[in-house]
Amino acid sequence: MIRTLPALKRALSLWRARRDTIALVPTMGALHAGHLALVRLAQRRANRVIVSIFVNPAQFAPNEDLRAYPRTFAADCAALANLNTDVIWVPSVEIMYPSGFATRIVPEGPATVGLEDAFRPRFFAGVATVVAKLLIQCEPDVAVFGEKDFQQLKVVTRLVRDLNLETRIVGAPIVREKDGLALSSRNAYLSPHEREVAPTLHRVLADCAKAIAAGRPVDSVLKQGSAAITAAGFALDYLEARRAQTLAPVTSVKEGPLRLLVAARIGNTRLIDNVEV
Ligand code: AMP
Repeated sequence: MIRTLPALKRALSLWRARRDTIALVPTMGALHAGHLALVRLAQRRANRVIVSIFVNPAQFAPNEDLRAYPRTFAADCAALANLNTDVIWVPSVEIMYPSGFATRIVPEGPATVGLEDAFRPRFFAGVATVVAKLLIQCEPDVAVFGEKDFQQLKVVTRLVRDLNLETRIVGAPIVREKDGLALSSRNAYLSPHEREVAPTLHRVLADCAKAIAAGRPVDSVLKQGSAAITAAGFALDYLEARRAQTLAPVTSVKEGPLRLLVAARIGNTRLIDNVEV
């Protein structure tokens, strides 16, 4: 585990001297099988893998769950050691945001399409800033991000292109529970009843994707899907069909490939998910 920038730089220059390739997997800890799948994918793409663990205050709004966010550091380290992760990079808030910190990256394009950004207005600036810093600190050849956060994957891909960062962004498929619920650190918040209801999100997404692929009108399919999500006890933030590449709105399957994206709250927990069409 590395906790200071000079120690990180020492590890990096050792690897670079040996011509090792480096992959980075950024996380906020509370690791589950979805994160570990990212690490395994990273290990196939590079000789050395860095997993960062940093709960990034800048991407939480004041009313969000920064303080309650699950922290399972000892278990995270054990799981990563098990996978032979080369370095766990654990910067402090002081390293990431030193006193006087005054620079933010405010992404546009896929960060302003009216999905997560409509409900979490400062979220992608927080993500873009911390990801840019992690990429500059670690100079990885590859960085792996989950499709679970589909809009975030698009934002980061654009960021790297726009800032000429020499890292290839790789997307990893969503890892799910047997009943379809996408793994998420926030699933730990769910009560037994909420946990029972939670797979509704994926079931509705899958049903809608099937109907849209079969040629049924997007609007009416999504209307029905929204009603099913609400009937299950969720407060729906959005259920939308978008172009998979640009996240632009669509009206017909003919504009495909499409992605269906959902965000909904149950009790105090906000869940997101998406599927391809
Ligand atoms: P987080 O710690 O929640 O910020 O997530 C760190 C990385 O893991 C992000 O790239 C997420 O998209 C990814 N991730 C989270 N959950 C899953 C999942 N169920 N399947 C695949 N990737 C995931």
